[in-house]
Amino acid sequence: MVTDWIKVARRTVQAMQPYQAGKPLEEAQRELGLASLVKLASNENPHGPSPRVLNAMTESLSDCNRYPDANGYYLKSALASKFAVDVEAITLGNGSNDILELVASAFLDHNASAVYSQYAFVVYALAVARSGAAALVAPASNYGHDLNAMLALVQPNTKVVYLANPNNPTGTYFSHNSLAVFLRALRSDIVVVLDEAYYEYAQAADYPDGQLLQRSHPNLILTRTFSKAYGLSGLRVGYSLSHPAIADVLNRVRQPFNVTSPSLLGAQVALDDDQHLQQGLDTNRAGMEQITTGLDTLGLEAIPSAANFVTFAPGIDAARVNQALLERGVILRPLANYHMPKHLRVSIGLEHENQKFLNELPAVLSALK
Ligand SMILES: *Cc1c(COP(=O)(O)O)cnc(C)c1O
Repeated sequence: MVTDWIKVARRTVQAMQPYQAGKPLEEAQRELGLASLVKLASNENPHGPSPRVLNAMTESLSDCNRYPDANGYYLKSALASKFAVDVEAITLGNGSNDILELVASAFLDHNASAVYSQYAFVVYALAVARSGAAALVAPASNYGHDLNAMLALVQPNTKVVYLANPNNPTGTYFSHNSLAVFLRALRSDIVVVLDEAYYEYAQAADYPDGQLLQRSHPNLILTRTFSKAYGLSGLRVGYSLSHPAIADVLNRVRQPFNVTSPSLLGAQVALDDDQHLQQGLDTNRAGMEQITTGLDTLGLEAIPSAANFVTFAPGIDAARVNQALLERGVILRPLANYHMPKHLRVSIGLEHENQKFLNELPAVLSALK
């Protein structure tokens, strides 16, 4: 008899679905028989990594017979001086995704509950489900987090709240003042994870100063990443800034060598390359203008975004629009798994990539009408 392994798995795992990742670029290209593809699907930096990062990492590869520094001393020191915090406030992760999971492993079990928003980044749901804790999902308001609705869901057994700011896949953000009000009203023994994966892109004057709020709210964890603005998604490096006592808890459930040595070095060098970071931010600002203007010209509604992507409703069957764009060499992210079947998410690319998307979209729309 063949064993049905899903039945042997933990009950919490039986209820889970695997994460739907996009196809590797080369494979999609081969299947479609296209000469080139424009990938605007994963909110990556279209410029690629900084050349300084590549050089440093290449040189370091000869040491890869050694285990990495389990404490990430040099990267933590660089982060500590950049953000004027103690080294003890920093936790490194295999992507910031790892830190979101570490929080769940450290604080959640089947006796606990966690709060997050409808349309919030899918990893919160996955991390909470795996922990066995109850998920308390607050309805969104205009696709953004409704902090009052989230507060209203808090139970005596609530241990963690996940907030994405800006949120992926909607691009929405909430202000410093609304977060301050939320934190004052929330029990101080609840861990608040403020996921700032798009922190570098968020330029609004009222975008929260998380470090300032941490002074009066030591239950606030900030998570950030090298995957987006720094252009290092493939290296898997993220970090959190928190009270050292929270970092101590996370450190107990962390795999000792969770960040590889080339990644530690690559992130450290990237942190110092302001010019490359700024180039990406400038490209994003111009590209955001290009794409939102283009969508507006087509009469399509887009959700205002503070990040490096835009979510819009093509007006007709989004799944078919997505497939037709793919066949014309443009990869977007469909959002049915976010219960947003009418929307598509487009990442901001280089000018010619954005233009390719804006050229193909009206052709697809009129072909499908
Ligand atoms: C991309 C993303 C992350 C994390 O990405 P990592 O590559 O694991 O650092 C976290 N939160 C949100 C909202 C994201 O979009």
